[in-house]
Amino acid sequence: MPLGDVCSPCYTVIGRRPGECASCGQRRPITGRDDRQRLVCVCGPCVGDDHDWSCRSCGRVALPVADGNCAARVARERVDRLLSTGPGLLHPQLAPLRSLLLTEIETDPYPVLFWLYRAGWAALLGELAGTHDEITHAVLDALPPRRHIQYLRAVLVNAGILPRRDEDLDSTIPWLNEVLDGLPESTVAIVRPYAGVQAHQRQVDAPDVRRRLGY
Ligand SMILES: [Zn+2]
Ligand SMILES: [Zn+2]
Repeated sequence: MPLGDVCSPCYTVIGRRPGECASCGQRRPITGRDDRQRLVCVCGPCVGDDHDWSCRSCGRVALPVADGNCAARVARERVDRLLSTGPGLLHPQLAPLRSLLLTEIETDPYPVLFWLYRAGWAALLGELAGTHDEITHAVLDALPPRRHIQYLRAVLVNAGILPRRDEDLDSTIPWLNEVLDGLPESTVAIVRPYAGVQAHQRQVDAPDVRRRLGY
């Protein structure tokens, strides 16, 4: 860019935090310096070269993130691809999550891009969207217990896609099945009823604890 070479994190900061251009006064990514006054920071179009700084899709002046498109456009495309059952077919159950993510993108697309790129729960959700007509607690319970499955479950519950449930009790069941798998019958016969009682007791105690903590 006209400012000179920048590393990837600095490129993101320039795109994410537009500044007021000293030449045109608009809030845009500050990518260059005025030709005559070398210390004055300006937006891409005000540098005066023939580079086109407009997003190929929406036409806004922005830093391109992929294929000449701005971060918001790329994030929207990636959300739609993630939550679809096939090209152009949104998974009907995931429409509320799509709405939440699009609202987030309107505010700041970069965190959504980061989640889509890095988060294990996002990759898992993409897999499930392509392979399951309905994503349920039971579908998640059947997967090996991992932290990103907990995150995904929380995301789906908060989006209103899955009903809220008592995680202490319900998540104990798949965990218990995994722990007991392969143990001798005689051990399973002793441990399973005991573990079940402990989980039930936690559920009975929970409302009392919540009351005492005031929530
Ligand atoms: Zn400008
Ligand atoms: Zn755009």
